[in-house]
Amino acid sequence: MNLRDENVLREMNLYPLWVRKEMPAHSEQPSVEVTQEVEAQPVAHVAPVEAVRHAETSIAPASGWDGLKAQVKDCTACKLRAGCTQTVFGVGDENADWLFVGEGPGADEDERGEPFVGQAGKLLDNMLASIKLKRGNNVYIANIVKCRPPNNRAPEADEVATCLPYLKQQIAHIKPKLIVALGKTAATSLLGKEATLGSMRGTLHDFEGIPLLVTYHPAYLLRSPAEKAKAWQDLCMAVKQMK
Ligand code: URA
Repeated sequence: MNLRDENVLREMNLYPLWVRKEMPAHSEQPSVEVTQEVEAQPVAHVAPVEAVRHAETSIAPASGWDGLKAQVKDCTACKLRAGCTQTVFGVGDENADWLFVGEGPGADEDERGEPFVGQAGKLLDNMLASIKLKRGNNVYIANIVKCRPPNNRAPEADEVATCLPYLKQQIAHIKPKLIVALGKTAATSLLGKEATLGSMRGTLHDFEGIPLLVTYHPAYLLRSPAEKAKAWQDLCMAVKQMK
């Protein structure tokens, strides 16, 4: 293991408890082995849920990536655009197998125009590295809303409903093999149901025919590092799903 790998595992609170198996030379998929017995999380039921898929605003579908990017750039369909610097479309491999979805841009993302570039983004990059993935390389990263909510509040239901058609179009273009929802907002918005994050983890969900897994948002993990071990379990499940 090199120093970079060690640092990634330390960042994830996994070192020296966890060791990754070397990736087989022929495989594009990361190979991850848990070397310490860890109790599997009970498979969660999504607890009694209340449907919250809000009537999505009818944004006319754009044609192709360029049309979609232009449409998002010019969008003023909800109140968030008035309070942000720029829209944050998404970043990465437009044919990626892996799609990671966060909540919405924060201050750093609003300034740079790219998702997950602040502290939470650094942790996300390390989470990706821990399963041998890299931003932009078979990975696409996007958010539920494209504009920064004021004071980093969670996006409101009408804002999610307005913006979701853009993400859906991104997903239709990317055709990922797996969606990883980062945090409760991403999970409940994509699944269209209200549930706790804990109840959504550990289960393979379905987003319009695409497998979807739920894990903690990196910003939450920064505040609650003890939960990183659970996020690692989720990542291992994701790797297994992609094999
Ligand atoms: N948090 C998110 O959910 N998305 C970002 O792009 C950055 C922080």
